[in-house]
Amino acid sequence: MAEGVHRSRRTLGAALVVAALASAATACSGAGPDHAAPPSPASGQQGPKQAPKQGAAAPESQAQKAEKARLQKAARALAAKKWGLAEPPLEAPAPPAVKPRITTRKGFETRSEGMPPVFTTVPTKEKIVFLTIDDGSEKDPELLRMMEELRIPYSAFLSDYVVSDDYAYFARMQKSQKGGVALHNHTLNHRYLPGLSYSRQEREICGMQDVIEKKYGKRPELFRPPYGNYNDDTLRAAKSCGIKAVPLWAAEAFPDRMEWREWDRDLHPGDIVLTHFRGEEDWKGSMADMVRRVMNVITAKGYAVAKLEDYV
Ligand SMILES: [Zn+2]
Repeated sequence: MAEGVHRSRRTLGAALVVAALASAATACSGAGPDHAAPPSPASGQQGPKQAPKQGAAAPESQAQKAEKARLQKAARALAAKKWGLAEPPLEAPAPPAVKPRITTRKGFETRSEGMPPVFTTVPTKEKIVFLTIDDGSEKDPELLRMMEELRIPYSAFLSDYVVSDDYAYFARMQKSQKGGVALHNHTLNHRYLPGLSYSRQEREICGMQDVIEKKYGKRPELFRPPYGNYNDDTLRAAKSCGIKAVPLWAAEAFPDRMEWREWDRDLHPGDIVLTHFRGEEDWKGSMADMVRRVMNVITAKGYAVAKLEDYV
């Protein structure tokens, strides 16, 4: 008898679990609220006349959005603590519906017109900056984890002579974040381009376009000349290889300091920040040390890091 009661309770319990799972499955697989129990019509009203829309995604309610934002903020705070940042990174605003029109910075022009613009700052009023990492010699797996967990967007400008010993690292980087990390052109061999003929410059730039397309499936639209040095031939060659823009930088980050281009030694909305794939043998710290340093500066000044490709 006692055993019989036990068994029937267990059966009842199992049935309840199954029912709960079934209703959860319906809510997840169907079109959200349309599949939930419909609200009873108020007295004097008919029930819903329209058939439930099939496959229509339920819009996210304000409460759901707020909850999602709260969870993301909490995750960022945890990641910031884990990686030793002074403060969690600030969340960048939504990208603009239309990318801003970018022109060459005054004093950075060459004689030809209609060339890809050369600039150090993206025109925007938002308190955002962009993080760009050059060359590619240091292939630190910790960097990929750190940036993904902190959800900090960045773009890589690759030079084949330091990338070619481990293309796979940058393939992992490319897929390491939601929305991807863009891989751009920084020439094959990192030469001082103004010292080369037009055809040799073209080979340096177009050759790297080919490498990136072959290894990573996408021909870059952005190009950064080594050392930031270029001449008219550089821009004409870059344009002929399909380059749309030439972002330089307004500030450079190291593990132990910042270097500034502007006289006020400060960040400005839309500034492009440069750093490098380097390790402890090249500079005073690891990639993670560099990220900590630059993020502490960026966050303390009230800036968020946005994704360069959303604006350029
Ligand atoms: Zn470089």
